Amino acid sequence: MKFRNWMAQTMAGRYGTDPLNRALNIATLVFLVLSLFIGGSSVGGLIWVLAILSLVWSTFRTFSRNIGKRSAENEAYLRLTGRLRSRFGGAGDRFRQRKDYRFFRCPSCGTWLRVPRGKGKLSITCRQCGERFTRNT
Ligand SMILES: [Zn+2]
Repeated sequence: MKFRNWMAQTMAGRYGTDPLNRALNIATLVFLVLSLFIGGSSVGGLIWVLAILSLVWSTFRTFSRNIGKRSAENEAYLRLTGRLRSRFGGAGDRFRQRKDYRFFRCPSCGTWLRVPRGKGKLSITCRQCGERFTRNT
């Protein structure tokens, strides 16, 4: 039997891969490398166990037939990391646009607001909560 056919048959009705599984695969690699460096000590052993656990979990998820449950796990993972991404992800954009724009945090709700640079004193209205405040651009 050709490998592709075998794969297709094996994967029929199975969940397959998703962002959570990719993260688990990366975690497996990181844990393996870490346990190689730390090796021997009980911490190294613990990290090795973590590597095996994330490998087993991602393999289990890939071949799972319970697709609803697996996508629920994936959504929970995306929600969790999405909060982290939105907290740190905007910093790069703000840095690239710093020549043309100034960024202010809304004093009321903390949303980042972008205003053009060099316009003198500007009255800024928060697009999130409607708070008005004045800033020197
Ligand atoms: Zn606001």
